[in-house]
Amino acid sequence: MADIIQLLPDHVANQIAAGEVVQRPASVVKELLENAIDAGAVNIKLIIKDAGKTLIQVIDDGKGMSVTDARLSFERHATSKIRSADDLFRLHTKGFRGEALASIAAIAHVELKTKQENDEIGTRIVVEGSEVVSQDVVVTPKGTSISVKNLFFNIPARRNFLKSNPVETRHIIDEFYRVALAHPSICFSCFHNGSEQFNLPQSNYRQRIVNIFGSKANEKLVPVEEDTEVIKISGFVGKPEYAKKSRGEQFFFVNNRFIKSAYLNHAISSAFDGLLKEGAHASYFLNLTVNPETIDINIHPTKTEIKFDDEHTLYAILRASVKHSLGQFNIAPVLDFERDSNLDTPYNYKQKEEPSIAINTAYNPFKEEKNERNYSVSNNSKEQTANWEGLYVGLESKSTKSNSDFNELRFESLPETASVFNDAAVEEKQSTYQLHNKYVISTIKAGMLIINQKRAHQRVLYENFLQHITIKQGASQQLLFPLTLHFSPRELEIIQQLKDELEHTGFVLKLKDDEILEISGVPMEVPESEVSIILEQLINDVDNEVPDSHFSTTDLLAKSLAKSLSIKTGQSLTKIEQEHLVNSLFACKEPNVSPTNRVTFITMAVDELEKKFM
Ligand code: ADP
Ligand code: MG
Repeated sequence: MADIIQLLPDHVANQIAAGEVVQRPASVVKELLENAIDAGAVNIKLIIKDAGKTLIQVIDDGKGMSVTDARLSFERHATSKIRSADDLFRLHTKGFRGEALASIAAIAHVELKTKQENDEIGTRIVVEGSEVVSQDVVVTPKGTSISVKNLFFNIPARRNFLKSNPVETRHIIDEFYRVALAHPSICFSCFHNGSEQFNLPQSNYRQRIVNIFGSKANEKLVPVEEDTEVIKISGFVGKPEYAKKSRGEQFFFVNNRFIKSAYLNHAISSAFDGLLKEGAHASYFLNLTVNPETIDINIHPTKTEIKFDDEHTLYAILRASVKHSLGQFNIAPVLDFERDSNLDTPYNYKQKEEPSIAINTAYNPFKEEKNERNYSVSNNSKEQTANWEGLYVGLESKSTKSNSDFNELRFESLPETASVFNDAAVEEKQSTYQLHNKYVISTIKAGMLIINQKRAHQRVLYENFLQHITIKQGASQQLLFPLTLHFSPRELEIIQQLKDELEHTGFVLKLKDDEILEISGVPMEVPESEVSIILEQLINDVDNEVPDSHFSTTDLLAKSLAKSLSIKTGQSLTKIEQEHLVNSLFACKEPNVSPTNRVTFITMAVDELEKKFM
């Protein structure tokens, strides 16, 4: 009888391997992000279309590949990360199997563009279903860009098996979280169908968590630190009162690699014993560092499971350190009164606007009055308005008009009707407009004014803080219960350096030993819940800039606070907020640029517009 055994052709073998590595778009995301990290990238950009079904692209500024390596990277078992089986026990990289690119290229249309730092030009390779369609030279920046289109184009069964876009997107975001949390020192951005979902700057771990899960996360985190011979633990657990019904925010990283471990998860739940409500799950973000020789990460193709040599010891240490932290940080809900959400607004017109309507006793029917609202830079806003009035007229005249209407009406009506009228007045003005939650558009004499809301607000806050620091009279709000924050000795030293300036802005600080900073007062502009993140941002900024004179320290502090507290891109503003921003910006000494010298607004003259319509 004839021989019947045949070797599978490569493309078939690749397709089979692909089934193991690539279950869904999120698996591609994970592999590409990990390759970018292994390549030493500092900036990584993820671009997704249609939940990754149409496009997944990762662009990095890592070390890139030579022409030969670029070609080889699509071969199965082609890896630069291990040379021998022994290396498996000394892994410091994410990859090592050398199958990801080969697998992905077997089941999608892949375009690779890559260039090494010292090369003039880069390499572009297109592979479709394991077949190299083209290879040529290309002009491309240092680093690598891989785009993966039409995933599972040649395996319709798999394609049909994919879940709805929202579900697949969730999986992708989960992978993104895991990678981004494990590497706070790398900048990540993520775009889905053309809109930016995340933009995570280089930061410390706490800030990375907050940047991903929102500023509210900050007050929920309890630090966990433990350094023993077998394991180093660092990170945070969520306070018990914030525990969730779902298992959403549970992250273990072992040597910077996300892992799942039911066993270690149990160690945490048992540390929370008695503190959680029925059915609630603690959240945690914990980094475990162990000697790579004591673990085996090779037991699962997607590498999220791990085998430890001595699981029992790890369990005990982990449980004890979490318990210790929960005890030490006094996990009683003392500081969490119900907050008035007005206090969280970045500037305080909300409180100021309403009362000024109800009790405007200074009204004089014989005097033409201007609408004098309380701006952040209020003391000398009058003189300062002079230099921009020529430019900016639309809003000014209208608000004057509605204000005098208001005066007439208010004079003979009961205070309650004022608020009704107030709404109508806002309705009627319509002099500003917000575009894409990013720009505020307004009319000026010459045409149109387009303001970048974030930069403009940074300018306003910056001048405000500068003024407070120099004239030493920032208003302070006293905290009912002082906050105690933990910092490293190095961080406390930085705060000590800035203590005087911080106090001039309105902070009331006391440095205690044992790495504790006690805060009993904060500037009016600073919500209590943001204090620790603001100080961390400040420390980070000082670290990166190293101010060497008093002047630059003041400047740096004002810049940093302005940055932390400003309205962000993506924040929707009411009409009143928009107008307030416009007015405050033009009351600034240097309204044209942000504290970091970026343009705050542009104008478009009517004749420019007219040219466009010719
Ligand atoms: P592995 O990561 O397991 O080595 P992959 O198939 O993911 O296998 O990648 C194959 C090889 O291609 C890597 O070992 C690396 O040398 C190279 N490579 C892949 N992606 C990149 C990238 N973004 N930048 C530089 N080199 C890369
Ligand atoms: Mg890889």
